[in-house]
Amino acid sequence: MTDGPIVIENAHVAPVRGPEIAGGHVVVEGDRITAVGAGPAPVTGAGRRIDASGCLVTPGLVNTHHHLYQWATQGLFQDATLFDWLTGLYDMWAGIDAAVVYDAATAGLGWLALGGCTTTTDHHYVFPRGRGDLFDAEVRAARELHVRFHPTRGSMDRGRSAGGLPPDEIVEDREEILVATEAAIDAHHDPSFSSMLRVAVAPCSPFSVSEELMSEAAALARRKGVRLHTHLAETLDEEEHCREQFGCTPGEYMEKLGWLGPDVWFAHCVHLHDADIRRFAATGTGTAHCPTSNGRLGSGVARVSELLAAGAPVGLGVDGTASSELTSLAGEMHQALLFQRVVRGPAALTARQALELGTLGGAACLGRQDEIGSLEPGKLADLAVWRVDGYRAAVEDPVCALVFGPTPPLDLLLVGGRTVVERGELRTTTADPAQAGVRARRRLIGDRT
Ligand SMILES: [Zn+2]
Repeated sequence: MTDGPIVIENAHVAPVRGPEIAGGHVVVEGDRITAVGAGPAPVTGAGRRIDASGCLVTPGLVNTHHHLYQWATQGLFQDATLFDWLTGLYDMWAGIDAAVVYDAATAGLGWLALGGCTTTTDHHYVFPRGRGDLFDAEVRAARELHVRFHPTRGSMDRGRSAGGLPPDEIVEDREEILVATEAAIDAHHDPSFSSMLRVAVAPCSPFSVSEELMSEAAALARRKGVRLHTHLAETLDEEEHCREQFGCTPGEYMEKLGWLGPDVWFAHCVHLHDADIRRFAATGTGTAHCPTSNGRLGSGVARVSELLAAGAPVGLGVDGTASSELTSLAGEMHQALLFQRVVRGPAALTARQALELGTLGGAACLGRQDEIGSLEPGKLADLAVWRVDGYRAAVEDPVCALVFGPTPPLDLLLVGGRTVVERGELRTTTADPAQAGVRARRRLIGDRT
């Protein structure tokens, strides 16, 4: 941490909440933002003064859905639907252990940070027996990189013999899941304002989890005061499965189980019905929109502009890298914009709405809209400084340059006032996340054939 304030000046500042400022400043003291305004910063004796001419300053990006362990299984089953892709990968994932999870998390979190992401969640739901503490392994990786982390303790208890999709070998017993989930919360969850780590409860999906586990997970989360997350309405196969198994749509199933509310966010929500959109808005239920993964698996286009118009919280997620090879959260802003426009026309989503999805919208999904997601005095100093000069200087509007085009170079990334990335390089670790990713892949499935 630098002694004295960090002063960033001469930048185009896009605070997301509040007006944009050309030639503005942001001042950081400790882990908080203390000033955002026009012209030079009214601060003398700065610990560090940064001339950000040619740069755009935004809040740090917030990733609301991921499966970090999937770093080890990218590029496989390239032309499969979700259910075929999952069925092919489950057997490989059954081989993960703490070393694979730690290395994959180091690679995935490093990659996210290099793409401007300051807060990320993770949905880990594969826990083969006797492979070490997998949850702790990813927590260690996040602490070492100094990324704000919202890991979710995922789970599956409905294997093939019980009508579910995963093989019986990789599902867990319901009681064991609830005990392990509570233990993860007790060991790691920090509810404080500046928290670097909050745990959520996340049974995997309607097609891999029993009705009892869904209900008991919700009761556990509410008893412990933590959030709830699962996959929902990702594909039409899932809708068909729910109608057959439960006699209702995925959205109706969630309502019946008490899984709607301001403490819940779902991944995907591609195939929502009008009534679901109304229910999400009325209850404050959030959606993690993952356009690259939805496109890769041919799942469809989520009704994001309609969710926003209804007033429901929406954030962005890269999803696991096995279905979104190396996408960044900034890339998801770009894809979200294009996906909505392809289906609903050029007014369906603006560059600024896409930036809001990637920042404040994501923060709302994680219940942290008062702490992160916008540049305002009093909020945590999580911010990204993007280079929009050079080739990008020809784009009149810096926010357009960030969202419409390829992701700009990242000059600086602060998480709680600490420098995590500078001039495109990680500063919090001497480890090489790319090498960690190679190790994870080699240990799990061997070298490329
Ligand atoms: Zn997912």
